[in-house]
Amino acid sequence: MSAAQPAQRLEFDAAAVRGDFPILQQAVNGRQLVYLDNAATSQKPSAVIDAVDDYYRSCNANVHRAAHALSGRATEAFEAARRTLADFINSPAAEEVIWVRGTTEGINLVAASWGRANIGSGDKIIVTQLEHHANIVPWQLLAQQQGAELLVVPITASGELDLQVLQTLLDKRVKLVAVGHASNALGTLNPVADIVAMAHAVGAKVLVDGAQAAPHWPVDVQALGCDFYAFSAHKMFGPTGIGVLWGRRELLDAMPPYQSGGEMIERVSFSGTTFNALPYKFEAGTPNIAGAIGMAAAVKYLQSLDRAAALEHESALLEYTLQQAAALGAIERIGAPAQAASIFSFNIAGAHPADVGTLLDQQGVAVRAGHHCAQPLMEYLHIPGTVRASFSIYNTFEEVDLLFAALEKVKGLLL
Ligand code: PMP
Repeated sequence: MSAAQPAQRLEFDAAAVRGDFPILQQAVNGRQLVYLDNAATSQKPSAVIDAVDDYYRSCNANVHRAAHALSGRATEAFEAARRTLADFINSPAAEEVIWVRGTTEGINLVAASWGRANIGSGDKIIVTQLEHHANIVPWQLLAQQQGAELLVVPITASGELDLQVLQTLLDKRVKLVAVGHASNALGTLNPVADIVAMAHAVGAKVLVDGAQAAPHWPVDVQALGCDFYAFSAHKMFGPTGIGVLWGRRELLDAMPPYQSGGEMIERVSFSGTTFNALPYKFEAGTPNIAGAIGMAAAVKYLQSLDRAAALEHESALLEYTLQQAAALGAIERIGAPAQAASIFSFNIAGAHPADVGTLLDQQGVAVRAGHHCAQPLMEYLHIPGTVRASFSIYNTFEEVDLLFAALEKVKGLLL
């Protein structure tokens, strides 16, 4: 351990939190696993694994339909999960919480339903240079279909959005600003409340991709003032295949259905079909009941922690990482946003990120290497990709040391 480690390390018991995550207690390639790919997906605590297991063992049934005890129990747990999620993001109502497969489906739902109904020829959609493909491609397709224009907010040298340019792009033809709450590639935390105020001033709606923010910061959709907020369970200790789209009731009410079939109908007849009330209008087919219950268990797990201390711990890990990177040398950090998720995106001069990622894996260190589904950002930065170490609440300073011991070897092999 080096003397440079910040004092905060004693204030958050990452070792105890670690004990909640069974998967971390394993060796990979003969070494203790160091899991630093949390921005791709986080690991799951026993509380989540048990909630899903318990659901299938004790109350599995289809929801909202059958008049039997198990179905009642499943429905109750499913709707209680929705209320837990509504509370988690300070939604004014549980009906504004729509279960989706994840962030990607949430954004596609808004693009297909709200977008086709509200964006026309000559209108403008604004995205940013930092966006994940999930918050670019649906808007690109929509713009093509509707004859609208897609505009891009550039970034500054430190990897922050240039809000002055955003201001110049905003006019009455802008119908939507789609922005990430935090960047998965650089970590940048965007000033969403300010962006919402700027967008609303010209009458534009704001969709927030919250995939990378929800695991770290408390999300309050009312305080943000946004119109839509999408996030995935699997990045915040919950199961894959489930997430939430939150939307303002008046917008959701006015939107046409996205997918159609069972559950989303009020009455079906060959002379015409009427649709169910919120949130069911957007939940066609049997939902991911176990996933919703697992996502609620993840929220409860998060709420059982001191979240401010958890965030401080993650920030201290990043701070320590930056010190170690400076000490090691030959490491170029990509982006240096003032406010950021605990993501360290970097390259080793002269080495391809994929080679660095493979060599780290051989030493038991799991990172992500590549374009991180942010190819327009990589193109803008003139790099093929980055190596990304992304931290979570269960990571430790010892793991940062292991990362840098491994990087030292990588340097020796590649340079
Ligand atoms: N947006 C961001 C910023 C992300 O990091 C991701 C996941 N990498 C997504 C959207 C897509 O999330 P999902 O795959 O869970 O739909």
